[in-house]
Amino acid sequence: MPMSSAFENRLYPLLESIAAHFGTPFHIYDETGIRETGHRLEKCFSGIPGFREYFAVKALPNPAILAIMSDMGFGFDCSSIAELVLSRRVGGSGEDLMFTSNNTTRHEFAAAMEDGGSIINLDDISLVDKLPAIPDLICFRYNPGERRSGNAIIGTPVEAKYGVSHEQLIHAYQTARDRGVRRFGLHTMLASNERDYTYMVQTADMLLQQVERISSALDIRFEFINIGGGLGIPYRPADSPLDLEAMAGAITAAFKAFSRRNGYMPRLYMESGRFMTGPHGSLVTTAINRKEIYRTYVGVDACMSALMRPGMYNAYHHITVPGKTADPSQVVDVVGSLCENNDKFAVQRPLPPIAEGDRVVIHDTGAHGHAMGFNYNGKLRPKELLLKLDGTVELIRREERLEDYFASLSFSPDKLPAAPLEKTWHLAN
Ligand SMILES: *Cc1c(COP(=O)(O)O)cnc(C)c1O
Repeated sequence: MPMSSAFENRLYPLLESIAAHFGTPFHIYDETGIRETGHRLEKCFSGIPGFREYFAVKALPNPAILAIMSDMGFGFDCSSIAELVLSRRVGGSGEDLMFTSNNTTRHEFAAAMEDGGSIINLDDISLVDKLPAIPDLICFRYNPGERRSGNAIIGTPVEAKYGVSHEQLIHAYQTARDRGVRRFGLHTMLASNERDYTYMVQTADMLLQQVERISSALDIRFEFINIGGGLGIPYRPADSPLDLEAMAGAITAAFKAFSRRNGYMPRLYMESGRFMTGPHGSLVTTAINRKEIYRTYVGVDACMSALMRPGMYNAYHHITVPGKTADPSQVVDVVGSLCENNDKFAVQRPLPPIAEGDRVVIHDTGAHGHAMGFNYNGKLRPKELLLKLDGTVELIRREERLEDYFASLSFSPDKLPAAPLEKTWHLAN
């Protein structure tokens, strides 16, 4: 069920006036849908006191969207200084922020710990000594290696660059405790776009087991486990959605069993990106060219710079042509203008006959869509709009312009003079 019919019903009657007012292409996000998904998540996990979603900022790093997350009481999962700054701008501070970085610099840790700080989620034991100070609360990212299989987008854990290995885990917490850390959490992130809810249940079980293993070795308690993001959404019409209610039921039961064995319950944290916003966004384009060679190509006014997933992962994004939904009679490639042949939103897709000027709506672009875009080939990223609860539509990011593209070419001259000849290495040696 790509793009909920509720979003379609809200969007399509307004589409022509939105397109006329703002011009295409644009990503448009549905506040109603985002809030409904947020409330559903909260309701499902209400049996675990202190449950909290830390929205993965990288999925949709727009302040207007982050403000909605903040309003719902969610925290923010950040992995760069820019994401920390964005989250703080909408009011996030301290333990509202989780800093889940990898291959981190001291400079980044300093940014994560200043301005009210954040929960530091460490990717390696060696990083303990790169923190500017010892935080009260620390979390490690666990990589279970061959104990778990991953999936296509994120890779198998043994080959993944992330986290602390199984054998290192106890030593990692021991090191942190020896340095003076007093509060602990445990994190992992193993799958991406996984619609089989039992995978996430196994992840929660795995973390609770590790908590028991570490606790008994070191006599420490854990305040939370964070099962990461990776909850999948149905991109294809035939995909079945993730059964969130079943997932929450099984995870809640595992927490209750943990509580019976250990006399306390850690909190459950989650850092979904895609599940929260993916289905609640669409990329709206206009068909501008049509060409018939060995195949039929429909050229639209957006390209990969607006949505990388099809070109990068061969990902499927459902496409509809408003007003022409009933007749998928032509097989076409829907393409952008980039000089790369993988700049295709759809390959050999049965679609209704598309004429120049038709709106072509690319579904489920609310996560890892605009955010992943790039400027290769001088292509600029489109604007972002928000369809708000009251039916108004607001510009929440303007389109990139040539002056943005050239901004980094405006700088003060700087030149390192050539070294004097006798000082060069080959002469000195
Ligand atoms: C990307 C990412 C997420 C969000 O992933 P989704 O698949 O969008 O849910 C969460 N946590 C970490 C550490 C990530 O890198």
